[in-house]
Amino acid sequence: MNQRTIQKEVSFQGIGVHFGAESLVTLKPASENTGIVFISPRFPMEKIVLGQVIPENAMHASVIRNKEFIVSTVEHLMASISAFSIDNLIIEVQGLEVPILDGSALPFVCAIEQAGILEQNIKKNFLTPKKELNFEEQKNGRFITIKPAEYFEESCSYDKNLYFKYFADFKHPLVQKDNLYGVLDNEYFSGYLASARTFGFLEQLPFLRRHGLAKGTTLGNTVVIGEEEFLNDKRFENEFIRHKLLDLFGDLALLGKNLIGSIVAQKTGHNFNRQVIQHYIENPDMWYLI
Ligand SMILES: [Zn+2]
Repeated sequence: MNQRTIQKEVSFQGIGVHFGAESLVTLKPASENTGIVFISPRFPMEKIVLGQVIPENAMHASVIRNKEFIVSTVEHLMASISAFSIDNLIIEVQGLEVPILDGSALPFVCAIEQAGILEQNIKKNFLTPKKELNFEEQKNGRFITIKPAEYFEESCSYDKNLYFKYFADFKHPLVQKDNLYGVLDNEYFSGYLASARTFGFLEQLPFLRRHGLAKGTTLGNTVVIGEEEFLNDKRFENEFIRHKLLDLFGDLALLGKNLIGSIVAQKTGHNFNRQVIQHYIENPDMWYLI
C-alpha cells in the first residue's frame, strides 16, 4: 500500500465548541513523506508535525501546540483523516480551534470524500508497538492496551488491520454500560462512528463555562444529557460509546501514522489517551515502523 493525500483543497468554517469563536480550517494536498502538518498564517515559523509533539494536558479536547501556535479540538478531524489512511496533508488553521460543525466527524468524512484520495508513489508506513503496551488509571477504571500487529510467516507480512474492543461505563442512569468490537477501518468508521456526536452532561456545563470551556456548546452540536432526560434527540441508541471510540481513534491519530495491531480500551478520555503519543515520542525504539 502506498502513501496517500487528498486530490484538492477543502475547507471547514464554523465556531469552536470550547472558545465559541469562528475559525477556518483548510486541508491541502501534500507531497510524499510530508506527514500531517498543521500550519497557521499567524505563526508562519511554527508548524506542528504530528508524531513529533505530545498533546497538551487538557481535559475536554485534544490540543496540540508548538510555542505560540496552538490548535484545540483536533480529534474529530484527525479521526477522519486517519480513517481515510491519509499520510500527507497540510492543515491550515485560522483560529484557535477546529470548528465543531454538527459535533460529529461526518462533515469531515463527506468533505474528504468529495476532495478525493490521491495514491502517491512511495510505500506507506504503519506503526505498531514491538511489545504489548499497557496504560492504566486504576482508581477510575481507565485503561488502554495495545498489542502488536500479527506477523504472518507464510506471506512474510504483517496484518495491517487495527482491531478493537471498547468498553464504556458512564455511571449515569440514562446511559447504560456498553461495548463495541470490530476492525477499525474506513468502512466501519464512515458507516458506524463518524455520525456519532459530541455529548455532555448538563450538570457539568456551569463548571466548564467557569473554566472558559464549552462556550460554543449548543443543542445543534452536542447531545446534552440532563438528570432525567436528554435535551435533544439521539441519532442512535448507543451514540455515546460510538463517539467515545471516535474520540479515542482521533487521539491515536496524533501518532502521525496509522496504528495497526489490537486495542482493548475502557473509559478513555483525551487527557488519558495522550500517554500513548507520549510513549511513542519518548520511546521510538519500542515501536516498529512497518
Ligand atoms: Zn469528541
